Amino acid sequence: MSLSFGGAEGAPRRLSILGATGSIGCSTLDLVARDPEAYDVEVLTAFRSVDALAEQARNVEAKLAVVGDESLYKDLKDSLWGSGTEVAAGTSALVEAATRPSEWVMAGIVGAAGLAPTLAAVRRGAVVALANKECLVCAGELMLDEVRDSEATLLPVDSEHNAIFQVFDFERLERVERIVLTASGGPFLNTDVAELSQVTPEQAVAHPNWDMGAKISVDSATMMNKGLEMIEAHHLFPVAPHQIEVLMHPQSVIHSMVGYVDGSVLAQLGEPDMRTPIAYTLAWPDRIATPSARLDLARIGTLTFQSPDEVRFPALRLAREAMEAGGAAPIILNGANEVAVAAFLERRIGFTDIIATVEATLSAMPRIAINGLDDVLVVDRESRRIAGAMISPPSGRA
Ligand code: NAD
Ligand code: MG
Repeated sequence: MSLSFGGAEGAPRRLSILGATGSIGCSTLDLVARDPEAYDVEVLTAFRSVDALAEQARNVEAKLAVVGDESLYKDLKDSLWGSGTEVAAGTSALVEAATRPSEWVMAGIVGAAGLAPTLAAVRRGAVVALANKECLVCAGELMLDEVRDSEATLLPVDSEHNAIFQVFDFERLERVERIVLTASGGPFLNTDVAELSQVTPEQAVAHPNWDMGAKISVDSATMMNKGLEMIEAHHLFPVAPHQIEVLMHPQSVIHSMVGYVDGSVLAQLGEPDMRTPIAYTLAWPDRIATPSARLDLARIGTLTFQSPDEVRFPALRLAREAMEAGGAAPIILNGANEVAVAAFLERRIGFTDIIATVEATLSAMPRIAINGLDDVLVVDRESRRIAGAMISPPSGRA
């Protein structure tokens, strides 16, 4: 069987890459560069990295390049002068870019900022490769309703969810007993808990296995990343919260597993290289070759596992509670976390203050009912305001 994804048979596949200059965006473009005839790049976007974006746009002859920061329009325009690439800037230009008629869209923006562009791609029925987990955490139900209405195809890029997607039996849901999200534990799996308050941004972003953007690297160090991934999994796969387990696995070789009623457990394995799950979404339902290192289990020798420690990683408990509560709770969790991680990276708060801020914001905020995107945006804004005020009180404490 061959799927044309709306493009003419044999014609290059039209791609849009939202968040092109980030870690996921660069890995996607690395795959595109290995088979340039197979793809036409419609859109590339970035937030502020004008030079990197302009270079990428020239390399792939993108039709449109968009920078999220409106004040950088002229810089981008100058950088792409004479290239044939159209230029735009600003938040609404990002959303508009996502409506361009490409067949495949990489949602690779980090944070809730990716929600509106990702929704725009979903609404026009595109194949959306979803890396941006924060938008599912904030607006999962809404987004999946839109996917159903528009008949868009949502393909998970996050390595755990991509692994589950590869071994999940969607035809026999009642035979699925549980899904097991594996977690490396990040750089502080074995650090003395008493020392965690002193760790620096440099130590926190130095992930032992994966090379990722700063925000997700800090989330991996606090394990909020796995918390967000539990909520992401709850939206992507039809299982109840109690069927979602987390298992520490420091080698990041088993990317996640699905357990069935007969006791079978199916897993997807591979070297920790995001080009493998990205390639899976780019070629789905086919597969394409990647340059990722081949898994050599004899060389690795030992795979280890342990139960998660919610005292060391309170983010896991907060995220599980937010997943079970649903509604406003995951939006508050995510908004407060984004603000706190940014403050930590700017050295305005310590490492353990990140999750303390999230917990305090969750306690401080009322849980309004979520009936649409406007409610999501109100709660997101308010959680950021409250978390921000806790970090830099308007008056009083210095
Ligand atoms: P990154 O920080 O390396 O890149 C983020 C991209 O988004 C950049 O292109 C940046 O310019 C753009 N961006 C940032 N803020 C923006 C804003 N306000 N408006 C518009 N664009 C903005 O991040 P990343 O590591 O590539 O992660 C991207 C997403 O993929 C995140 O949601 C992350 O959780 C998820 N993810 C990443 C990895 C990984 O290996 N890096 C793995 C799994 C999931
Ligand atoms: Mg992941």
